[in-house]
Amino acid sequence: MNRAKPPPSCPLPGAAAGNGRITLAHGSGGRLSAELIERLVRRHFSNPALDRLEDAATLPATSGRLAFSTDTFVVQPRFFPGGNIGELAVNGTVNDLAMMGARPRWLSVGFVLEEGFSLAELEEICASMRQAADNAGVTIVTGDTKVVGRGGCDGLFINTAGIGVVPEGVDLGAHRIQAGDRLIVSGPIGSHGMAVMLARGQLSFASEIASDTAPLAGLAVDILRAAGSGLHAMRDATRGGLGAVLAEFGRAASLGMEITEQRLPVPPDVQAACDILGLDPLFVANEGVLVAVVTPETADAVLAACHAHPQGRHAACIGAVCAEHPGKLLRRTPFGGRQIVAVPAGELLPRIC
Ligand code: MG
Repeated sequence: MNRAKPPPSCPLPGAAAGNGRITLAHGSGGRLSAELIERLVRRHFSNPALDRLEDAATLPATSGRLAFSTDTFVVQPRFFPGGNIGELAVNGTVNDLAMMGARPRWLSVGFVLEEGFSLAELEEICASMRQAADNAGVTIVTGDTKVVGRGGCDGLFINTAGIGVVPEGVDLGAHRIQAGDRLIVSGPIGSHGMAVMLARGQLSFASEIASDTAPLAGLAVDILRAAGSGLHAMRDATRGGLGAVLAEFGRAASLGMEITEQRLPVPPDVQAACDILGLDPLFVANEGVLVAVVTPETADAVLAACHAHPQGRHAACIGAVCAEHPGKLLRRTPFGGRQIVAVPAGELLPRIC
């Protein structure tokens, strides 16, 4: 963080210098940079660790292990039904920490801003980030802003990094997955990807589809409590969708991942939008859905815990891990057949998060 004393007056920064828009001077490290940090970043993110504005936040040491993750957000458009790039940037990193069984605690935020970007829009995004951080119980403790010239980036890119605390005895990951484990998905799939497509105006389709962006830390805690050591792995099914996560698990564990098509929770409007675009909802991005891999003995308790949580009301057991077809994703069809699912080579929808 730039060390800056509060300016004597409080117009929006650069209101005179840039007509309410980001100028290269906002990234110069000079007075306008200081005003930007004071009036936008600190106004929205204020907390004791951040407000010291030192070169680094200092945080209390903890027992157990730390989880540390980072992600960068370039979603286009920046606002879409159900959320915006700021919420996504907080929830995305919070969820990656939570998938390791960690309690998310601290975040950093880095903004790359294009010259000409609207200060009012930046302020709105900062306000949603603060709200998302409060909802997730994390504190934004350090940050950075850089400005690039026109054409140097597409408006705004955001990086977040986060630290969470993993309780003693918790060890989640693909290395623990075993044949016979059950695959539980926490909610309906495909909403985020389709909401962004609708916001791009690429579908002439009247729909209410909204992104599912949400913090999953609370649900993850409940799943961990219900399953104990019977919870082997968790992952949020973001870019690449549920299918990509299952394929990653299968490859990492050298086991087959078998799902039953009729059990996949796909909302009808998402299915309709996917049909128009020729997409498989299995590979469409989510921002508030997780997959838990649990022992058969704990599957019912995990489902009950999910159903009791707002983010897990529509959770379903969609399949199981098998020893055959190591590294492959298999789909059981309504006709009783079993087919190997081809995983797309790349992201179906670019700049989805
Ligand atoms: Mg993830």
